[in-house]
Amino acid sequence: MNIDPDRLVANLREVERRIERACERSGRRDRPRLLVASKYLAPEEMSLLSGAGIRLVGENRADELEAKWRRWGAEFEFHFIGHLQSRKVRQVLPCVTMIQSVESLSLVEELDRRAESEVRVLLEANISGEESKYGILPEAAEAFLERAAAYRKVMFSGCMTMAPLVADPEAVRPFFRGLRELRDRLASVFSGRYEFTELSMGMSNDYQVAVEEGATIVRLGSALFSST
Ligand SMILES: *Cc1c(COP(=O)(O)O)cnc(C)c1O
Repeated sequence: MNIDPDRLVANLREVERRIERACERSGRRDRPRLLVASKYLAPEEMSLLSGAGIRLVGENRADELEAKWRRWGAEFEFHFIGHLQSRKVRQVLPCVTMIQSVESLSLVEELDRRAESEVRVLLEANISGEESKYGILPEAAEAFLERAAAYRKVMFSGCMTMAPLVADPEAVRPFFRGLRELRDRLASVFSGRYEFTELSMGMSNDYQVAVEEGATIVRLGSALFSST
């Protein structure tokens, strides 16, 4: 990745402006957190992000995460946002404040076994139902959480989704709305056990729509690193 620091800051300011406008359009008073996808950067390039004032990053791969955390653990808060295999749990846990991509009971079990204290996670939902996607189907989410609730150290605090890649971001609005409705339903059903507040949705292509639909975390990569 070859990116000029001034370009990154300019891209970041533009994204922040657009997020602000999306909040105003939808009458939101709270503001989403911006998470930067760090898969585009090598560990030694991460200083670009801290230089631009970015504090929250999301990494997809366990080995990359560990390398970046070892070098930059004091600069950033790390979330894990990729597909997590059970055998990587031990490696990932010390590096992160949240695992956004929990979508199997075996993973919940392993997290509970390995965590030294409570670990915050999001339920990854496959809202579009595409077969190629990871995630729990909305209609299966309640049954999943009923079983997951027995694992006391694993604290679900919201939902995450990856919307289908489409040319027109308006086309994914129903999926973001669907994730919000799922979150609201789970918040009410599991109110004694979990606080379902977070909605991690929206990427470079569609974050403005996601913000309008209530995203509390948007996950951005290419919009920040593009040179045009
Ligand atoms: C890469 C990635 C993003 C950011 O994608 P962009 O389209 O580059 O903004 C967000 N979420 C996840 C899970 C990713 O892997």
